[in-house]
Amino acid sequence: MNQGKLIVISGPSGVGKSSVIGEILKRHPDYLFSVSATTRAPRPGEVPGVSYHYITEEEFKTLVAQNALLEYNHYASGDYYGTPAAPILQTIAAGGTALLDVDPNGALQVAKQYPQAVLVFLAPPSMTELRRRLEGRNDTPPEKILARLAQARWEIQQAEHYRYLVLNDDFDDCVARMEEILSGSENAQRSLYANNSDLKILKEVY
Ligand code: ADP
Ligand code: 5GP
Repeated sequence: MNQGKLIVISGPSGVGKSSVIGEILKRHPDYLFSVSATTRAPRPGEVPGVSYHYITEEEFKTLVAQNALLEYNHYASGDYYGTPAAPILQTIAAGGTALLDVDPNGALQVAKQYPQAVLVFLAPPSMTELRRRLEGRNDTPPEKILARLAQARWEIQQAEHYRYLVLNDDFDDCVARMEEILSGSENAQRSLYANNSDLKILKEVY
């Protein structure tokens, strides 16, 4: 890897990853957002080719067979998600910054291949708030919300493998923390909230 940056962002569904990444991309239009391939259906408001590449399971399996994915996962919902390798490798080789939104499984696969990757975990203030955000989005059926909340508990337990742990309580604060990390500033503490009682969610989940 050249001097480019690979930033891997994870966090339970509904924590606000898309919102935070969207804000960062507004401020840094030169960053590459890695558009994942998925077999899940588009949600209202999502744009094919921008939010995700929506493909069939057969097409997904072809990508896997062609080794075209940097990592992939069969998510709890039953859908496949994967990161197309080529755009990221090109961006990094050119010294650019690539942002990935992947689950902890994918993040650890990426970290194995690229130890320089910076892993950031976004945490919700509480499980109640996570549920409220998931329900508020109004695009996921109740039984899928329950599956996602169950998955969230496992995901939050993976936060210890991440270099940075960022609370998404106040949105602007969260974006400011992300900016600190992206700037590579030495002021960005290794674990921004891990030893802080603000991160009640860890106590709730463990
Ligand atoms: P994810 O991409 O992690 O699944 P989204 O970005 O879709 O999550 O956010 C889920 C919902 O939570 C959206 O309705 C979004 O507007 C809302 N949201 C995001 N960040 C915050 C925040 N800091 N406070 C309150 N609501 C938020
Ligand atoms: P959602 O369906 O809510 O957009 O995403 C569900 C989960 O899949 C989230 O945890 C998200 O981070 C993860 N995800 C999205 N794209 C990828 C990907 O390319 N690879 C992996 N491993 N996970 C992904």
